[in-house]
Amino acid sequence: MSGWEQQFVQDAFDTNWIAPLGPHVNAFEEEFCEVVGSAHAAALSSGTAALHLAMILQGIEPGDEVLVSDLTFSASVNPIIYCGGKPVFIDSETASWNLDPNLLEDALKKKAAAGNLPKAMIIVHLYGQAADMEAICALSEQYGVPIIEDAAEALGATHHGRAPGTLGRMGIYSFNGNKIITTSGGGMLVSDDKALIDQARKLATQARDPAPHYQHSQIGYNYRLSNILAGVGRGQLRVLSDRVQTRRQNFDFYCNNLGHLPGISFMPEAPWGRSNRWLTVMQVNPELSGSDREQIRLALEEENIESRPVWKPMHLQPIYAQYEVFGGHVSEHLFERGLCLPSGSSLTKSDLNRIVYLIRSIVCT
Ligand SMILES: *Cc1c(COP(=O)(O)O)cnc(C)c1O
Repeated sequence: MSGWEQQFVQDAFDTNWIAPLGPHVNAFEEEFCEVVGSAHAAALSSGTAALHLAMILQGIEPGDEVLVSDLTFSASVNPIIYCGGKPVFIDSETASWNLDPNLLEDALKKKAAAGNLPKAMIIVHLYGQAADMEAICALSEQYGVPIIEDAAEALGATHHGRAPGTLGRMGIYSFNGNKIITTSGGGMLVSDDKALIDQARKLATQARDPAPHYQHSQIGYNYRLSNILAGVGRGQLRVLSDRVQTRRQNFDFYCNNLGHLPGISFMPEAPWGRSNRWLTVMQVNPELSGSDREQIRLALEEENIESRPVWKPMHLQPIYAQYEVFGGHVSEHLFERGLCLPSGSSLTKSDLNRIVYLIRSIVCT
């Protein structure tokens, strides 16, 4: 927390406005729109809720196919299933580790030839770095398949100067406790289409029809963000650029101190954008470094330092094994060799030194 949050939360208490609607919710939405450059936004209880509403607004129904990045967190995919849809996984390219436009084209060609175009594509911006959106947007237009962006990890990043999450039809963000800014839990749905966001707000508040009594002609959800948490979000937004700077400094420190070691490399930054370096992700080539990703992870764990393997690809998940995948080797390779290092913005220099020292002692012996 930055200190700003407490003032906004205090205001919510002072005005006794403890509800899932209120002035801080409206202000948070407006301020968020300014930061990312979107026309409209709905503050919601989580990024997952935002993606679920995006699927509903996109009209995903039982049996509909939705293309989605293979290398991601399961929350990118679950909302497809909530709507009865079928995910089709697309592997990564190596410049940004995000969805590969060439494989996307293969998938769209194949689906078009079969007369069964997917209803949407969910493009994930992994670990704070934008996907190759120029190529992806061109394919989206060519085939008429709309883009929903999962920018849960990428707030504060840019793609040719614009915010990932604002380049498709709708975009979602997360303010979960582990993200670059947090409200403890929360999310945002953005779009330049006002009707979509109006409808999202309605669905998120139990889908009440405009009537003095309670009347419903749609299934609703309880997905709105509370006025208190929106206050936290407003405070956090003010320090977003500081947080990005700190995370980028963490990355540079790791890279400068470990990048020259045999078999050690770091997540690249693609030429089309600037990553927020939400997490610093290292690659370990066991033939060159003499130890594999898991050995390093366990050695860190022994010292009470938490690190994590890269997301396990969706096509390898037991729950998703039955679905179609285009490619798969790149994400498998990244999973086998990738380790997410401690990356929080409150890490001290001595924390970072300790981690680097430990990794050096493993790789160099
Ligand atoms: C965190 C995350 C989500 C889900 O956001 P929540 O706010 O935790 O529901 C979705 N997609 C990705 C890629 C994420 O990292």
